[in-house]
Amino acid sequence: MEIIKTKKALNDYLSGFRQSKGQIGFVPTMGALHAGHLSLIGHVSPLVDTVVCSIFVNPTQFNDPEDLRKYPRPIEEDIRLLTRVKCDVLFLPAVAEMYGKKEDWYLDLGHLDTVLEAKHRPGHFQGVTQIVKKLFDAVRPDVACFGQKDFQQFMVIQYMVDKLDIPVKLERCPTLREPDGLAMSSRNIRLSDTGRRQALALYQTLREVKKGVDSKPVSTLKKTAIERLNASEGVQLEYFDICSTADLTAVDDAGNGAGLVALVAAWVDGVRLIDNMILR
Ligand code: AMP
Repeated sequence: MEIIKTKKALNDYLSGFRQSKGQIGFVPTMGALHAGHLSLIGHVSPLVDTVVCSIFVNPTQFNDPEDLRKYPRPIEEDIRLLTRVKCDVLFLPAVAEMYGKKEDWYLDLGHLDTVLEAKHRPGHFQGVTQIVKKLFDAVRPDVACFGQKDFQQFMVIQYMVDKLDIPVKLERCPTLREPDGLAMSSRNIRLSDTGRRQALALYQTLREVKKGVDSKPVSTLKKTAIERLNASEGVQLEYFDICSTADLTAVDDAGNGAGLVALVAAWVDGVRLIDNMILR
């Protein structure tokens, strides 16, 4: 695996592939890699000729400086994991490489920038779109993979790609979970044993909601889920909602057979966790 730290060196390395019409697959991450990240690499590798993974803890998407400071950065272990899968290039830029000069960024994301994660983390998706655009410019991938774990993020990136006409195909990959159901996350390593057990309430609640979706009204499912999460020891609920998979608008009982997704964010043990489940 090549480890490349500058955009120029990355371009030099990839230009040969581009000239010979080789397809480039891309998996952007913030590191502290786990099996969920590696599954994205496993998903993209059969679709392309070369796989680029980036590790970059993007400061502009953190609205909480403490969260940025505490974000895990086990780079040696990450490199070890990447050498075991089919990753051809690790793009590992420093902050100054991606943000060389002062710059303003604003992309109108419409409704997607007002609800759920956007509402609770103001500016988060501006930071996400800013860095993903920069990484797409550097890598110029044919296919890029993102996890369903960040459901709204995927919609935001698809929206940006459509709006800016970026020639990349996006793939949304399933959420990998621990055997007991907890969604894998780089932040899980900050949970104590107790917090780790308490965090299961998120998955268990999503499962209950999914079980009830064909027999109960959406409003009942939502109310019961919120009550359950609020009653769960150690869980401070930030939001729980059931939305349309098409545009993340809130759904009422009338329903119209549209796709539904339940999304949750909560604090457990001082760690902010998110999860979601497609209900139908
Ligand atoms: P992150 O390093 O948290 O920015 O995540 C990098 C990519 O991995 C994003 O596309 C995430 O949605 C995806 N990802 C994170 N956790 C999981 C998981 N448990 N299963 C599958 N993909 C994931």
